[in-house]
Amino acid sequence: MNRPRPEVVKPGDNPGEPPSDAIVLFDGSDLSQWLSEKGGPAAWKIKDGFMEVVPKLGGIRTRQDFGSCQLHIEWASPAEVKGDSQGRGNSGIYLMGRYEVQVLDSYQNDTYPDGQAGAIYGQKPPLVNACRAPGQWQTYDIIFHRPVFDGEKLLTPATITVLQNGVLIQDHWVIQGTTMHKERARYQPHADKLPFSLQDHGNPVRYRNIWIRELD
Ligand code: MG
Repeated sequence: MNRPRPEVVKPGDNPGEPPSDAIVLFDGSDLSQWLSEKGGPAAWKIKDGFMEVVPKLGGIRTRQDFGSCQLHIEWASPAEVKGDSQGRGNSGIYLMGRYEVQVLDSYQNDTYPDGQAGAIYGQKPPLVNACRAPGQWQTYDIIFHRPVFDGEKLLTPATITVLQNGVLIQDHWVIQGTTMHKERARYQPHADKLPFSLQDHGNPVRYRNIWIRELD
């Protein structure tokens, strides 16, 4: 009975809604919490409560820095199917700006497994393919523990758990390093907190209802 009591948090009224201690990064109205990766304000399209990648404008990143976190994010690949494999509904969530959880239209769209939706890109395929059809809203709930460095030395690698549409697709995976393309991942030391970013891979992917809880 002497143990300290956990903080009281009011959960969202409906599934997916932010709890009282979450930082809301996008509620559908504006991109004030975001910056362009190329510098200046984020300029992705806002419409009907979602934001949409504007191809060639570049990725966007949070104004605020984050380390270990619980992140809720909803996305939809274009309803009109264009392209295939990596060219279809490609975007991504770069935790700390470097560890990518792949966003891709992986509904009846074959590609290399560590590049499909829910993959830790280039490292680890999702446990199952829990994708909804193109145009439908999907959820990622991500629990991420940042890596710990002592100067140049890696003390503890990052770990990640991901649920897609309520289905476990990454189970406490030990991240192997910064996301690379056609190269083995390796860690590059970095700060304890950094912005996370959303990728512009040339496809008009949509995002909505983004909130985060810091775990540090
Ligand atoms: Mg991607």
